[in-house]
Amino acid sequence: MVTPSPAETFASGMAPARFGVVGKRRDTSDTWTLELEPESGDALRFAPGQFTMLSRGGAGEVPISISGDPAAPARLLHTVRAVGLATQAICAAEPGDVLGVRGPFGRAWPVDAAAGADVVVVCGGIGLAPLRPAILALLERRERYGRLVLLYGGRSPDQLLYPGELDDWSARGFDVAVTVDSAGPEWLGHVGVVPRLVRRAELDARSAVALLCGPEVMMRFAAAALTERGVGPERVYASMERNMQCGIGVCGHCQLGPTLVCRDGPVYRWDELEPWLAIREL
Ligand SMILES: Cc1cc2nc3c(=O)[nH]c(=O)nc-3n(C[C@H](O)[C@H](O)[C@H](O)COP(=O)(O)OP(=O)(O)OC[C@H]3O[C@@H](n4cnc5c(N)ncnc54)[C@H](O)[C@@H]3O)c2cc1C
Repeated sequence: MVTPSPAETFASGMAPARFGVVGKRRDTSDTWTLELEPESGDALRFAPGQFTMLSRGGAGEVPISISGDPAAPARLLHTVRAVGLATQAICAAEPGDVLGVRGPFGRAWPVDAAAGADVVVVCGGIGLAPLRPAILALLERRERYGRLVLLYGGRSPDQLLYPGELDDWSARGFDVAVTVDSAGPEWLGHVGVVPRLVRRAELDARSAVALLCGPEVMMRFAAAALTERGVGPERVYASMERNMQCGIGVCGHCQLGPTLVCRDGPVYRWDELEPWLAIREL
C-alpha cells in the first residue's frame, strides 16, 4: 500500500466535495435544515457530534454539525442558523443548488461508551442540532441504556427546534423537559433556564453520562448543576465552538488551551475543559 504524503493528505482534506440540496425545511425565523446528497453517490458516513466545513459559492466556509441520522447517511442533514455572510448564503440555498462539503471532522459524542448508564442530554437553542444524531443513535439501541433524559431550552416556544420530533422521542423512551426564557399564556411548559431542569431531573448521578451543547454560559451552569448532583466531571461531555478555518488541525485558528477544537474536539470531557474555561478570553 502506498502511504499518501503529508501534502496529499492536506490536499484531500482541503478539497470540498459537491453536494446537491435535495430538501429544505424552515425550523424557526432564522434557522433552516438542509438535506444534501453527494453528486458522487458516496454517502458521507459520520459519528454523532461530528461536523463538516460547509460552503456556498464565494461566501466563505463554516463549521456546521451534522444533524441527521447516522444510521441513514445517504442524506446529509445540517441545521443552520443564519447569523452572518456564510450561514446566510447557505440558508438561502434552494433544492437544485450545490454546496461544498469537507469532512466529517472532529471527535464524537461517547454514545457507545455510555452503554449501561443513564444518559442526560442538556442543550440550548441551536445546540439541539449537534445532539440530534446522538439522540437518534441512543433511541436506535434503547435497550442498551438506563434512563434517557433530554433537557432543552429555547428563547421562546417559536424558537424551539424539531417540535414534532420532541413528542416522538418522548414516545420512544426519552424523558423530555423543555423550558423557554419567555412565553405567552398559551405555553404550558417550564419557563426559566435549562440548568434549573438539571436540578429536578430523575437520573442515577453515580453513573449518568451527560452530553451538553449550547451557549457556553449555559454549559457552565449545567455542568455545575450536574456536578453538584454528583455526576463526575469525567462523565460530562460538552461540544465547544471556536472560529475555525481549515478543519484539519493545520491553521491553528480554533485553538483551545493546548488543543485544536477541529481535531481534538468539538466534544470534550468537562474535567479536561474546566481549567481552560477558567482562563479569561481563552
Ligand atoms: C464545531 C462547530 C459546529 C457548529 N455547528 C453549527 C450548527 O450545527 N449550526 C449552526 O447554525 N452553527 C453551527 N456552528 C456555528 C457556525 O460555524 C457559525 O455560526 C458560523 O461560523 C458563522 O459564520 P458567518 O460567516 O455566517 O457569520 P460571521 O460573520 O462569521 O459571524 C456572525 C456572528 O456569529 C459569531 N460567530 C462566528 N463564528 C462563530 C463560532 N464558531 N462560534 C460562535 N460564534 C460565532 C460572530 O462573533 C458574529 O457575532 C458551529 C461551530 C462550530 C465550531
